[in-house]
Amino acid sequence: MNIILYAIPGFFILIGLELLAEKIRGTNYYRVNDSITSLSTGVLSQLSKVVALLVPFTIYISVFDNFAVYQVKASPVTWVLTFVVYDFFYYWAHRYAHEISILWAAHVLHHSSEEYNLTTALRQTSTGWLSFVFFIPMALAGFPPAMMITVGALNLIYQYWVHTRHIGDLGWYELIFVTPSNHRVHHAQNKVYIDRNYGGVFILWDRLFGTFQQELNDQPVIFGIRGALKSWNPLWANLQFYNQLFQDCLHTKSWWYKITLWFRRTGWRPPDVIEAYPLLKTDLDNFSKFHTDLTRGLKAYAILQYVINTAAALAVLLNLEILSAWQQLGAISFIMFSSYSVGTVMELKPFGLTLELIKHTFLIVVVWVLFPQGWFLMMLVALSVCSLLALQTNALKQFARA
Ligand SMILES: [Zn+2]
Ligand SMILES: [Zn+2]
Repeated sequence: MNIILYAIPGFFILIGLELLAEKIRGTNYYRVNDSITSLSTGVLSQLSKVVALLVPFTIYISVFDNFAVYQVKASPVTWVLTFVVYDFFYYWAHRYAHEISILWAAHVLHHSSEEYNLTTALRQTSTGWLSFVFFIPMALAGFPPAMMITVGALNLIYQYWVHTRHIGDLGWYELIFVTPSNHRVHHAQNKVYIDRNYGGVFILWDRLFGTFQQELNDQPVIFGIRGALKSWNPLWANLQFYNQLFQDCLHTKSWWYKITLWFRRTGWRPPDVIEAYPLLKTDLDNFSKFHTDLTRGLKAYAILQYVINTAAALAVLLNLEILSAWQQLGAISFIMFSSYSVGTVMELKPFGLTLELIKHTFLIVVVWVLFPQGWFLMMLVALSVCSLLALQTNALKQFARA
């Protein structure tokens, strides 16, 4: 059972509350283009787990079955122990996810938003499977796979609520636990805040291992990454840093660097590549967020398409047992295409309209074949035609304005 799926209604209720706080306080922490990108990566991340986690789990289970020195039995005390031990290893997995290039390539996505709100929490990678190696000691020590998976999910759920700018300093709680304030520091690109506060639930590990930094009043956090993503494409957000490493690997003349650059400290680049292909870093003194100005109609369109994608993803995830591998693959490919296509529309690229036309036509044909003459088909055709008309009108208005 994937606990995270059952937490989804709670996630959206809290987003609703945060939007209410935004309205009451008149803050400006949400942008539709940014939030839809974050939420779409969250959907893709859940879908990727269908395939990507099979190998790490199998390895964890086989290490536990064959090499565990002890067998932890479930009791209230051992559940708490497992939760704390998991968080300890999470600290190291997260710290290396920042410090080693190939691991950062997977994790950078979570930091690529230049906003900080509850949708940022759901900006989760689809390629994070290498991190499991940090949890292998738990298999060796005898923590059963089911307990480890459960506390892992609880750990992730805990981290959700800290992604908000509406909660300030929490006093004594800040000393022990990860909080909105100390996790804002973790998402900052200001020099003083970089590579700080890796904890998942307990901030104690950072205090213990020298990576703690408090949020400072005279240093307002600038959210995001130094090599800005500048895109609303959730697929590209997953691939951006892999691409940079791959380009460096192609460009360097040294074979030693070609092999080792993947495993070096994040930010390190072969000297010959730095010279020939310098990278632009965000100018923090004159910082401006990546933005495209969407009309209300385009915003509504993007939200509607996101809702359809999420419904499709949930339908797949809750029916994995009855869907064939081909059906799963087909549905996942469609959701990936749709996320990409909506991102392209939000970037105001004219070919996004063609992509959306292809998407709706394809969807109607598939539903026609699966449920001919049903009310579902009629509803879908009506929805698609209205959506496309709205998209066409709004996009034309938007492009004229740009
Ligand atoms: Zn991080
Ligand atoms: Zn975070």
